[in-house]
Amino acid sequence: MTHILLVEDEVKLARFVELELNYEGYQVSVAYDGLTALTAARKLNVDLVILDWMLPGLSGLEICRRLRSIGDKVPIILLTVKDEVSDRIAGLEAGADDYVVKPFSVDELLARVHVHLRRSHQEDAVYILEFEELSLNRRTREVYRCQRLIELTAKEFDLLEYLLTHPGQVITCDRLLEEVWGYDFMGDVNIIETYIHYLRLKLEANNEKRLIQTVSGVGYTLRD
Ligand code: CA
Repeated sequence: MTHILLVEDEVKLARFVELELNYEGYQVSVAYDGLTALTAARKLNVDLVILDWMLPGLSGLEICRRLRSIGDKVPIILLTVKDEVSDRIAGLEAGADDYVVKPFSVDELLARVHVHLRRSHQEDAVYILEFEELSLNRRTREVYRCQRLIELTAKEFDLLEYLLTHPGQVITCDRLLEEVWGYDFMGDVNIIETYIHYLRLKLEANNEKRLIQTVSGVGYTLRD
């Protein structure tokens, strides 16, 4: 279910927008001040944030900056009574994707929400590699097996990403060395075996079935 974080300190307005979003089928979490909003945005992994500019605690602009500074690319729509060009620029420079000026019609806000969710889902589709119940997001560098988030090192991630771009193909160890470690890498192919071992430990931590198969004397393949 699409999850939206709504940050608005005017309780009545927040309630009204929340109900409209619920009516559209979105799950909504509401925060009424800046600090709560920042914590919620980091913790909840929401699909979109509607963010009032003027808030107690941290301003919407500051929340925007902080989220972008830690690499969070969640779509953000700023709500504000400010409508000077300089304000618009400040909002966009802080990393907001869009800007809705109060008082707004709820239809206008919903239209923007739809646009930004559609755009971000399209981007995600390009960035997500899937095999069986495994899914890897190239943008956020997150890997999931079913709902379980799997923490990988940078090299483990690169190795899995390469295998996921060639499902069912047998990839030789030499090719993995070239493609994942680079031509300049002077190590020997045993490193592949070591990293495949680490990957399997993590991917099969709950006794799940093996997805990375050994092709004896040749290399590895991603196969059910
Ligand atoms: Ca406000």
